[in-house]
Formats: sequence, structure tokens, C-alpha cells
Amino acid sequence: MSALQALLRYPFKSKPPSPLIAHIRNKLFDCVVKGFSVVFVWIPSHCGIKGNEKADRLANEAVVCGDTVPFKNYCQDLATLPRHYLRDSWDKVWAESSCSKGKYYFSIQSQIPRKPWFSILRLGKIATTILIRMRLGHTTCPVHLARFHIIDSPQCECGHDFGDLNHIFFSCPIHDRTSFLYSLITLRVPFPTSIQTLLFSFNPSIYSVLSDYIYENNIRL
Ligand SMILES: [Zn+2]
Repeated sequence: MSALQALLRYPFKSKPPSPLIAHIRNKLFDCVVKGFSVVFVWIPSHCGIKGNEKADRLANEAVVCGDTVPFKNYCQDLATLPRHYLRDSWDKVWAESSCSKGKYYFSIQSQIPRKPWFSILRLGKIATTILIRMRLGHTTCPVHLARFHIIDSPQCECGHDFGDLNHIFFSCPIHDRTSFLYSLITLRVPFPTSIQTLLFSFNPSIYSVLSDYIYENNIRL
């Protein structure tokens, strides 16, 4: 069916079609010129065709032990190979390099996701940016800025404690955390907890609660 859909598709709009499709369309054009009428029929799962199971079995055997010549590879066939190779080699580098650097981030993201983690959450640009920084461990909280001598004191502006992420999310009196804590309890998050534990969970609901807290308290990190 997908082959028939490819034949129907407008060939100059999306990504280039397989050369086989172009070849078939060319043949169809020849048929039209010669006055032939060609009808394509798609039969689901080859149903009702005698010998179908045998054909399937032979096709599967050919994958393993079929002849490799003569064959013709098109660029579309080969283009998928580097993607698999790059993915595998990236996974290996990711795991090996985590032994020496990026350990904190690796503990949050032990495998490279097929899509960025934030693509399924849709938390808005500000919360997504802040959560990315929190996951990387590079925020603009006072403790972090003081470590790099960008500001003099690691104290939070409230003056009660050091301005790290746990203080900002769990104890800073400047922020209202009523709905934040209620939501975490509703999600059965065991207390006491920490911002690291919440980030490690990679629970979309917990990330949503963190995002709500960021927006409600106009937090910029
Ligand atoms: Zn504070």
C-alpha cells in the first residue's frame, strides 16, 4: 500500500522519491502514450492467494541467505545506514564519557532519547529553558553565580539561607509553594525530597509541577 501511496504522491513537493518510483511512473507514462490502461490493486496481506505463505517464507529466507549479486543500491537505501551507525557510536561515547565527565547529567539522562525530552511536555519556552539549565546544573541561582565569582555572596535575596535550587523550590519564604507541595503530595512523591530527586524521576507530571511553580512565582534561573 505504501508503494501505491508513493506513486500517487506529488513527486516534486516533499523529499525526493525512490528512483524505483520514478522508474515506475516513467513506465506508466509510456503505457498511457501507447493507449494502455493500467490498474493497480492492493490486496491486504496477500489474503486468498495460493502459495502466499511459501512466498513469505522464501522472502524471509532470502534476507539471510539470498544472493548478494546482482543488486543495485540507491542512495535512499544507503542513507539510513549512517543514521544507525551514528546512533550506536553516540550511545557508546555517551556511556563511556560519563565515567569521566558529565556524571550529574548522565545520572538524569542515562540514555540518549530519540527525541528531546521536552518535545513531549510542551511546558512553554521559559520553563523549558530553566528546566534544561537545572538538569545541566548551570542555573543563575546565587550559589552557582557566586561559585564563578559573578556575584559576591551565595545568599538568597530573602537572606535566610544559601540560594541553591533546593532552597528556592522548597524553603525560600519569597515564593508561594502551596499548590506546588500539594501537587507533589498528590503525585505520591515521598518526602523529604530534593530538586535532584525530582529531576532524576523524569516523570512528566512532576516536570509539569516544577514548570507551574516556575511560572506562578515568576522564577528566573
Ligand atoms: Zn530565599
